[in-house]
Amino acid sequence: MSVGIAILGSTGSIGRSTLQVLARQRERFRVVAITGHSNKDLLAQQAAEWEPAFVGLVNGGTGDGGQGKGTACLVEAATHPDVKIVVNGIVGAAGLEATLAALRAGKRVALANKETLVMAGELVARAAREGGGEIVPVDSEHSAVLQCVAGRRPTELDRLILTASGGPFRTWGPERVSRATVAEALKHPTWTMGKKITVDSATLVNKALEVIEAHFLFGVDYDHVDVVIHPQSVIHGFAEFVDGSVLAQIGFPTMELPILYALTYPERVPDQGVRRFDPVAAGTLTFEAVQPDRFPAYAVGRAAARAGGTAPAMFNAANEVAVQLFLAERITFGRIAEIIERVVEQGRPGDAGSLDSVLAADAEARRLAREAGRGAGGEAAC
Ligand code: NAD
Ligand code: MG
Repeated sequence: MSVGIAILGSTGSIGRSTLQVLARQRERFRVVAITGHSNKDLLAQQAAEWEPAFVGLVNGGTGDGGQGKGTACLVEAATHPDVKIVVNGIVGAAGLEATLAALRAGKRVALANKETLVMAGELVARAAREGGGEIVPVDSEHSAVLQCVAGRRPTELDRLILTASGGPFRTWGPERVSRATVAEALKHPTWTMGKKITVDSATLVNKALEVIEAHFLFGVDYDHVDVVIHPQSVIHGFAEFVDGSVLAQIGFPTMELPILYALTYPERVPDQGVRRFDPVAAGTLTFEAVQPDRFPAYAVGRAAARAGGTAPAMFNAANEVAVQLFLAERITFGRIAEIIERVVEQGRPGDAGSLDSVLAADAEARRLAREAGRGAGGEAAC
């Protein structure tokens, strides 16, 4: 019997990569549910090809004939009785409710939607405990770590090192970076991804989010999660053990392998879809320390992580608003970090143990970020 899959955000970069993987694994898996936000045409094309039992369009669906619409369709897809694994490829806080619902319903969540863990790591862990569900990371760095630690006792793990490409501005001076255009920020050197995560990679907010994600996934405290710039994106993550041994996971950049592993974990299955590794073709691998003055938002994210409670939720929400403003060309690139910093400073982090308090912190941070975005520089309102 094949395993039923729901893909939330099937029209996005992770969603499309997931379908590419599944196209090679049709005997093992079947697509039971797909959802998109507003790309109706692509969603209809995917529905015609995969014939899922459930299709949900968040913005503009009809709600007729096995179709869902509105945000409720995400939970409906995630908790569909024929679904065993939910691939959450939604971008941003919008993915939270579906992750919680899937875990409470005892599903595996193959999680790309890192914002979910950042804003509500405690709640997600509780939902998994209570419902018997499990989170398996899709993010390449966390998949790398999982592959290194699988089968080991948690007490044997000492430190994680996540790699970061450094994004398109790695070698630029801070002045030039602060004035970077949208087109420049969207030119990622090693990965092709959705716009929001591509901007997050340019600010290194993505890596701050991933540090928090790693903390919740692997139970490692923040002093034991390091980041190193590795421009070739060939080593995806390192795990250091208590005896000093270090394992790393290696491969040419592709999301298809972490997606496949999240579906089959802890097993591995034969697959022929992606370029096999070739060390000679990979060439020289280099590593650099993160330069804090080049990536000011990264330090803000790490401080929010340490503050705990709802501070990471506020950091995440402020970033989502700032990135939207930047992509709409309403603020400069340099203002993203300034807005996030202002919000995190102004916000009063509270307890993150209830959904209400997390959502309230998220809403407060969005309000403060919009306000900050209207501030200096005479930029337009959101
Ligand atoms: P994307 O923008 O390409 O796709 C996002 C998907 O989410 C789309 O299908 C869109 O329809 C849907 N969506 C957007 N807003 C929504 C909303 N409000 N409600 C419901 N659905 C909504 O983004 P992506 O690059 O695929 O990234 C998705 C997630 O995966 C992000 O959290 C990102 O950080 C993470 N991730 C992506 C990659 C990658 O290679 N693309 C790698 C690691 C992690
Ligand atoms: Mg990543």
